[in-house]
Amino acid sequence: MKKKEVEAAYQSMGIDPRVLDYCNKIEEELKDRFIRIDSNAEYNQLKVLKAMQDNRLSDVHFAATTGYGYNDIGRDTLEKVYADIFQAEDALVRPQLISGTHALTIALSGNLRPGDEILSPVGKPYDTLEGVIGITPTKGSLAEFGITYSQVDLLPDGSFDWNGIKASIHSKTKLITIQRSKGYASRPTLSVQRIEELIRFIKECKSDVICMVDNCYGEFVDIIEPSQVGADLCVGSLIKNPGGGLAPIGGYIVGKAEYVENASNRLTAPGLGKEVGATLGLNASLFQGLFLAPQVVSGALKGAIYAANIYERLGYPVHPNGSEERFDIIQAVTLNSAEAVIAFCKGIQAAAPVDSYVTPEPWAMPGYQCDVIMAAGAFVQGSSIELSADAPIKPPYTVFFQGGLTWYHAKLGILMSVQQLYEQGIISLP
Ligand SMILES: *Cc1c(COP(=O)(O)O)cnc(C)c1O
Repeated sequence: MKKKEVEAAYQSMGIDPRVLDYCNKIEEELKDRFIRIDSNAEYNQLKVLKAMQDNRLSDVHFAATTGYGYNDIGRDTLEKVYADIFQAEDALVRPQLISGTHALTIALSGNLRPGDEILSPVGKPYDTLEGVIGITPTKGSLAEFGITYSQVDLLPDGSFDWNGIKASIHSKTKLITIQRSKGYASRPTLSVQRIEELIRFIKECKSDVICMVDNCYGEFVDIIEPSQVGADLCVGSLIKNPGGGLAPIGGYIVGKAEYVENASNRLTAPGLGKEVGATLGLNASLFQGLFLAPQVVSGALKGAIYAANIYERLGYPVHPNGSEERFDIIQAVTLNSAEAVIAFCKGIQAAAPVDSYVTPEPWAMPGYQCDVIMAAGAFVQGSSIELSADAPIKPPYTVFFQGGLTWYHAKLGILMSVQQLYEQGIISLP
C-alpha cells in the first residue's frame, strides 16, 4: 500500500491534508514509545495464551449452560485462566456481575461485616462508589449496614500521605480500597509499583487488613497486575480492558481464595457461591475478548498518547501530558470552551463504526449538576474500551476520552476531532 493511497483514504473520510500532515509528523516522533507499548502487548499476549494452554482450553468450554448452571466447565475454566493471568489464588468472572460498580459492590459487601471500616488512602473513589459506600446517603449502601468509611487524600503533589494513612488505620479497619486509575478525577493514576509500596506500608501498619484494588482501565497497561504485588483482591469490568471489546457484559474479582469465596456467596447465595450461575452461551466471547485484550489495550494506549501529543502541541493542557508514562487508558484534554468540547466530541462520533451519522449534543443527564456531552458509537452499549469521549459542559471544559478497539480507529477518531476544531476555526495549523 502506497502512502499516497492511505492519504487519499483519509481524505475520503473528510480529513484535510493539512490536518493529516500535522498529525503524521507528531506520530512519527512517537515511534519509540509505540514500540515499547507493542512489546508490553507482546508479553501480555503470551501470558494470556499460556494461561489458556495450561488450562487446556477447548471448544467444549464454549457450550451454553442454562438454569442453575451447575458444572459449567467453561465458566470454571475461564475463572482458572483469569486466576493464572493475575497470579491469584482464585477468580470470580461472571456475566452476572453486570458492571465494574457491581463487581466492586460484591467484593466489598461480601467481605465486610457490620462494625467494619473501609479506608480509601488515595482520595475520593469513583463517583458510582459514593452511593455504594454511602458517602452520599443511598438506600442499601454499606453505611446502612453499619460499615463506616474513612478517607485520606493524596498530598497536593500526588504522593501518599503516609502519616495520615497510618493514623487512619485502627482496630476496625477491615478493608483498604485502592483505585488504580484516576478515573475522571485530576489526581495521577497509580503505577503497579506505587500500589506495591502502598500495600507494603499498609500491611506493616496492620497485617490482616484486606487490600482491594479497583483495577478498572488498568488491565494489561503494564506487564504485571496489582494482584502480583500484594493486592488481596483485584476488581474490574469486562466492558473495559479485559473484555477486549467482545465481552457483551461482565465483571471480575480475582485474589485470595477466601475473599473470592466471600464475594461469590454474596453474588449468588451463602452456601451456593461459585457453584451456580449459568453462562447462557457467553463463554466464547469472554475467552476471545480476553485473548484480544492485550492488543486492544495497546491500541487504546497509542490513541491516548497520540491525542495527548497533538493537543499539547496545539496549546491545550492535557492530563497525562504527552511524555508521561501511562498507567491507564484515559486521556483528559482541557479545551477551554464549550464549542471546542462539542466539536471534539462530534469528531469522535463521526469516526465511529456505529451511529457515525448521529450528532452528539449536550444534555441534562440525571445526577449531574450541568449538561454533559457524550460521544460513542459502540458495538456494546456503554463499552468504554471502544472509542468514546465525554465532558461536562462547564469550565475548564475538559473532555475525557478513552478506548479504541484498534489503533487505526483511535487514530481516525483523533484526526476527526482535530478536523472539527480546524473547520470551525477554533485552531489554526502551521
Ligand atoms: C468505570 C470505573 C468504575 C465503574 O465501572 P462501571 O462498569 O462503569 O460500573 C469504577 N472505578 C473506576 C476507576 C472506573 O474507571
